[in-house]
Amino acid sequence: MAKQPMLKFVTTSKEMPTKRTPDERREDFAEIYREYAAEKAQEQASRCSQCGVPYCQSHCPLHNNIPDWLMLTATGRLQEAYELSQSTNTFPEICGRICPQDRLCEGNCVIEQSGHGTVTIGAVEKYITDTAWEKGWVKVGAPLEERDQSVAIIGAGPGGLAAADNLRRAGLQVTVYDRYDRAGGLLTYGIPGFKLEKDVVMRRVEQLEAAGVQFVLNCTVGEDISFDAIRGKHDAVLIATGVYKSRDLGGKGADLNGIVKALDYLTASNRKSFGDEVEDFDSGRLDAKGKRVVVIGGGDTDMDCVRTAVRQGATSVKLLYRRDRDNMPGSQREVQNAEEEGVDFVWLTAPAGFEGTEKVEGVVVQKMRLGAPDLSGRRSPELIEGADYVEPADLVIKALGFEPEELPALWDVPELTVTRWGTIRCDHTTHATSLPGVYAVGDIVRGASLVVWAIRDGREAAQSILDYLAAPAAVAAE
Ligand SMILES: Cc1cc2nc3c(=O)[nH]c(=O)nc-3n(C[C@H](O)[C@H](O)[C@H](O)COP(=O)(O)OP(=O)(O)OC[C@H]3O[C@@H](n4cnc5c(N)ncnc54)[C@H](O)[C@@H]3O)c2cc1C
Ligand code: SF4
Repeated sequence: MAKQPMLKFVTTSKEMPTKRTPDERREDFAEIYREYAAEKAQEQASRCSQCGVPYCQSHCPLHNNIPDWLMLTATGRLQEAYELSQSTNTFPEICGRICPQDRLCEGNCVIEQSGHGTVTIGAVEKYITDTAWEKGWVKVGAPLEERDQSVAIIGAGPGGLAAADNLRRAGLQVTVYDRYDRAGGLLTYGIPGFKLEKDVVMRRVEQLEAAGVQFVLNCTVGEDISFDAIRGKHDAVLIATGVYKSRDLGGKGADLNGIVKALDYLTASNRKSFGDEVEDFDSGRLDAKGKRVVVIGGGDTDMDCVRTAVRQGATSVKLLYRRDRDNMPGSQREVQNAEEEGVDFVWLTAPAGFEGTEKVEGVVVQKMRLGAPDLSGRRSPELIEGADYVEPADLVIKALGFEPEELPALWDVPELTVTRWGTIRCDHTTHATSLPGVYAVGDIVRGASLVVWAIRDGREAAQSILDYLAAPAAVAAE
């Protein structure tokens, strides 16, 4: 039977306040947590039936060898489990924390489908790799042999970092350019710390630095350095810039104070967790404390906004969404988490404008109903005439999704071909773009997607770049 994690607190509680220092108590808790996590991971791993039809594996974008590392965990062979898990995933502890497992591996677990509840694959993956970090099994990926050729990576998000890791291990000179002051992309400044602790991201960045990857931060390509200059300096280039153009809302009062973009709001909150001074947060503009917060959206970003607002001490948090629960694209697990934390979901509603003089005081809400399914099978929302009302609000957060920036124009490189959605057009196996020696990965190719897909792209593109640089033409050009 599973041990009760609180037991030690109960038996020692009389002595603890006087005899144990706060640091010792924290260590006690960490020890209990470790024991408990180990037991839980082993218990979960042994639930895998080794079914022989590993849908979990085929629905993991990295095709992680899940059944095998579960078996190794169940039998206590943790280091081997870690080695197997990291052989297909550059950042397993990150995926274990933030993959929407209910849509990927766990949603396709045979035990889940037979109605007995999935093996918690993500939690086990996180546990294996956290243990590996603790035990010193995670080694710096320094190459055995140096090579002269160099690769520029534009964008230090998961796609760029996964490629940097693979290219550096192969001995190439790797420089990562990013416009932010810290590497990690949305892992650092988008996804909140309660889902992905920032030290988990930073220790990966530090390891890449220790392996010899050069980071050029606070450097916007197209402003501080031209794309042409980067191409001239390096033998190959990888574009991994993500998508950052926020979709916007019009309507009466749309430019009132107190109506903010989701990414500005989340970035401010993440910066505060690093201890940065953030003027817009300190002035209260991007702080939900004591406010009635309304979030407008319908994906995973809005879920992060509402849950951050709850943690900042908002007096109420409402999410407006124009479809109903069953037709929402975000993770159902996230919806459940948010509901448990007190978020009020106002289904079948859309904003029609904003009330207020200088500052927003309310959102004009239109009620909707669901009509016939569209071509994708989803039922389209239709307006219910005359059913508008005003939802009081002190802070409105717009989380309507992201689109790519116009890179060919911004970088003065019209030969870089893009799709009609503005994403970079590239070969989906090699990730080669229309420019020789230039590759692209992650959200800038797929549109807003997932970390695990960016990692997969980054690993694949690194292999293509290695093939390209090893080809006779590239060698002759050196
Ligand atoms: C709020 C939020 C929450 C999310 N939550 C999850 C989640 O829980 N699970 C999940 O799997 N996915 C989640 N995602 C999606 C996930 O974060 C992205 O799919 C993933 O980060 C894409 O990786 P990337 O490497 O393509 O780009 P990014 O992570 O966006 O990194 C791109 C980098 O490029 C840099 N850059 C851009 N333009 C330039 C330029 N001109 N010059 C220099 N540098 C530049 C940026 O500063 C950035 O650091 C979330 C996204 C958001 C917005
Ligand atoms: S990487 Fe994501 S989808 Fe793959 S096994 Fe891990 S948690 Fe599941």
